[in-house]
Amino acid sequence: MTTPRPLRLIYVDHAATTPPRPCALAAMDHAARTLPGNPSSLHAPGRAAADALEAARATIAACLGAHPDEVVLTSGGTEADDLALRAVAAMGAAAGKRHILASPLEHPAVRRTLEALADEGFSVEYLPVTQAGGEVCSGYVRAEDVAASLRPDTALVAVMYASNELGSVQPIAEIGRVCRAAGVPLHTDAVQAVGHIPVDFSACPADTLALSAHKFGGPRGVGALLVRRGLPLCPRLRGGGQEKGRRAGTENLPGVAGMAAALQEAVETLPIEMARLKALRARLVDGLTATIPGAVCNGGNPHAAPTKALPGLLSLTVPGVDAEALVYRLDAVGVAASAGSACAAGSPDPSPALLALGYDPETAMGTLRLSLGQDNTDAEVEYLLSILPPLVADLRGDAIAADRYAPAPPENLSRR
Ligand code: PLP
Repeated sequence: MTTPRPLRLIYVDHAATTPPRPCALAAMDHAARTLPGNPSSLHAPGRAAADALEAARATIAACLGAHPDEVVLTSGGTEADDLALRAVAAMGAAAGKRHILASPLEHPAVRRTLEALADEGFSVEYLPVTQAGGEVCSGYVRAEDVAASLRPDTALVAVMYASNELGSVQPIAEIGRVCRAAGVPLHTDAVQAVGHIPVDFSACPADTLALSAHKFGGPRGVGALLVRRGLPLCPRLRGGGQEKGRRAGTENLPGVAGMAAALQEAVETLPIEMARLKALRARLVDGLTATIPGAVCNGGNPHAAPTKALPGLLSLTVPGVDAEALVYRLDAVGVAASAGSACAAGSPDPSPALLALGYDPETAMGTLRLSLGQDNTDAEVEYLLSILPPLVADLRGDAIAADRYAPAPPENLSRR
């Protein structure tokens, strides 16, 4: 008997990218068809495009508690991170400060820019995080460690809002207060947080905050950097001086319209969707840790308040299993998941974030990420709970063959 496939693909890789929301597609289509002008042009089509761009910017700002002039539109999260880090580091260097503090959990969009800055003479220091197997949940930066590590020559602190690999939501408000008190700018990569948990820039003591549309049902290739009023942002692209001279290039109006529509819908439905996903994640955590011997949930445990976790992201370390092999086995039965971080897929090296939790490299390579989203149902979660333990047992070489134990797929896997 072979493992039965579900009636449709079960997509549990929303942290990699989310399916576009219909409202985003409609907004993009409308902008592409009806607003052909360049927002920088003086004529009527140009002015109509500029008006639509500013309306979308105002929507994005309102959803995130920012002023419209604090929103710098970019090509996505990677560019927003790089723009912020380079600009703030340059300001520090101009004042003779070349020390950078960062969390070890950062996405390559931050980590690689920090590596480049290190090559250019900055000293980059990584903060400790709470460890796997400890009494508290793993994968959290402590504000007191930031305070203890700040130096007179610290140019900037970079701590992501929520981890794309672990789902841990960092105490950004506390960390930001520590940075403010020391007069050190804080950059936060909020790419996995925006649209998934409440993010209010007006109440968040970060100076720059990166977001990306395709993580909340918007299009790929568009994002933004929120930049606190009064912070001068040295551009990477100078060109035609768009975005008030902070990021040149003709604006991607359809993309920005899609991002605004997706963000507005995500924010409006946030309380209901957060509660729904949180319950699904808790069911997965409880079910999988009870049925897969040795499996450990990383990031926030759903039952361990007050540490916070992204509602839909589950990181599970399964000792004795190669998570990439597990991902291929899941793929073969119609489940799209990921091993650790999708951005590091295919890499022979374990992710720095998982090593920072204290895992040895082999155990770290056994980390599976299931990231739930709008389209996932209770029935899909039950199906995952039924197929994962035998697949793991099979990969571990246990006598139990996955095929023999895989149950029939749930009857109702229709889209919500
Ligand atoms: N930061 C985090 C935390 C991410 O998860 C990602 C994408 O996976 C990025 C940055 C990069 O964003 P983008 O794909 O829009 O460049």
